[in-house]
Amino acid sequence: MRSKLVVGNWKMNGSRAANATLLSGIVEGIDGAKAACAVCVPAPYLFQCEQLLQGSPVAWGAQDVSCQAPGAFTGEVCAAMLADFGCRYVIVGHSERRAYHGESNELVARKAQAALAAGLTPIVCVGETLAEREEGATAAIVGAQLDAVLELIGKEAVAQIVVAYEPVWAIGTGKTATPEMAQEVHAGLRAQLRTCNAEAADGVKILYGGSMKPDNARELMAQPDIDGGLIGGAALKAADFLAIIRAA
Ligand code: PEP
Repeated sequence: MRSKLVVGNWKMNGSRAANATLLSGIVEGIDGAKAACAVCVPAPYLFQCEQLLQGSPVAWGAQDVSCQAPGAFTGEVCAAMLADFGCRYVIVGHSERRAYHGESNELVARKAQAALAAGLTPIVCVGETLAEREEGATAAIVGAQLDAVLELIGKEAVAQIVVAYEPVWAIGTGKTATPEMAQEVHAGLRAQLRTCNAEAADGVKILYGGSMKPDNARELMAQPDIDGGLIGGAALKAADFLAIIRAA
């Protein structure tokens, strides 16, 4: 059986003082939790995470990474730098980056490849917009998003990624996919992973993200192919984040 993983995506939130309170609240309350957990924070706070979370059960990571190796890429942060600050994870292809920064499936795939090369676990986000769901295009959209990554990283690397299904219409809106809707997409994604690497597919974690909260987490994560959550808003309050980790 796959173990559960709960990852907080802080997005562009935080301050040194607020982070210290949030992180110490999580570390103090995490004792006895069975699910693995991590926080993905803005890059300037990675050093703070390394200082406060080292030796705790809470891993940390970033929310984006450059597809490039070190060099003349002003404003970018490369995978080796994230590894240098002890990151275990990096989110790639979040819908906010796809929408506001025009990230294509191919670019997301290159980011996942760069993360893997630095020893990081990419959390590959896929998800459809409301219009795409209403057109019946969900499976095709998320399939193409995952396919681009699988094609580039290859069969051997399948076991080293985490996938996150995040319907765009559910992110930050308070609207959640029903457990059945989410399970259907997760099962499709797992079938796609199986086509690429039959042995690895059953071990790959597929997280659900999109308004997951303490009151809907248990039902979502009880689905056979939902292996945890990628949590936005509810990851900014220690009590809510801990309640979701306990539900997992
Ligand atoms: C996210 O940003 O990845 C997310 C799932 O956000 P929220 O939980 O706020 O919907």
